[in-house]
Amino acid sequence: MKIDGKTKVCGLIGHPVGHTLSPTIHNTLAQSLGQDLIYVPLPVEPGYLEDAVKGGYGLGILGMNVTVPYKSDVIPLLKNVDPAAAMIGAVNTLVRNEEQGGYDGYNTDIIGLQRALQEDGITLQGQNVVLLGAGGAARAAAFLCGQQQAGQVWIVNRTPEKANLLAQEVKKNYPSLAIEALTYARIEDPACSLLPTEGLIVLQCTSVGLYPHCEDTPVSAPSFISRISYAFDLIYRPEETRFLRLVREAGGRTANGLSMLLWQGVAAYEYWNKLQISSGQAKTVMDRLQEEVRD
Ligand code: NAP
Repeated sequence: MKIDGKTKVCGLIGHPVGHTLSPTIHNTLAQSLGQDLIYVPLPVEPGYLEDAVKGGYGLGILGMNVTVPYKSDVIPLLKNVDPAAAMIGAVNTLVRNEEQGGYDGYNTDIIGLQRALQEDGITLQGQNVVLLGAGGAARAAAFLCGQQQAGQVWIVNRTPEKANLLAQEVKKNYPSLAIEALTYARIEDPACSLLPTEGLIVLQCTSVGLYPHCEDTPVSAPSFISRISYAFDLIYRPEETRFLRLVREAGGRTANGLSMLLWQGVAAYEYWNKLQISSGQAKTVMDRLQEEVRD
């Protein structure tokens, strides 16, 4: 591409940012839309987040994604925060606000997960949903359960206090949602009568099973796996985690997190450029992402 004085710049702030696939998403979109825009990783050392946000504005950066460990810490540095992002307590997309001289914050992880499930024909409305994990990604998933009026939600986490806290927070925002914390021991007990024996939707939001620890899984008990009709694992490296393999082998439908990554990026690109990305354009990006994950 030709870079000149009019080229718009976007980027990703985080620490580390070395293995990110986000440049593939945004640079492919810019290329296929014929836009004069480039997206670059911008590593931010601990202690320099405020400098990075202010400096980014000063340098004319159109928009930034925010990744670990800054998704919550960035909030006080913003001019405005979208209500959904404020509720989740995490921002992953900064959009330039010229009037106020800074950035506004959004959470496109929740949009990405919602869109990925939708593309797979899944809505959480009225469904029995188990969330594995209670970290940053699980927060977006838990609030999506509230937004979509899931039937019953169980949050399962290695540190049970975090699952309890998250369940309480979601309940505060969605008082009619039936949501509670459960332990791994409970869900792996073959006699567990709290969970239905079939038809569960499981959103795997832990980092367990992530490359190179591909043989790890947060849960493997056949009595739990056999209750699952659909499992979405937020991990996309490896393409099929051991958890997804177990669900597939037991006859459940499965999907990995690459489509969530795609759609959160598409939503960010739409915010920055105030346009709509078509399904065909998104498909071009997905093809590129799949090639990179397989490399
Ligand atoms: P995080 O905030 O660090 O949370 C990690 C979660 O994993 C916590 O619930 C943690 O439990 C649990 N965990 C870690 N090691 C464990 C173990 N050995 N046994 C049981 N549980 C364990 O991370 P995050 O930001 O939520 O990300 C979680 C995963 O989602 C990562 O793999 C990330 O790459 C992926 N992700 C994907 C997308 C996407 O677009 N596809 C977007 C965001 C995140 P404790 O609370 O007990 O520590």
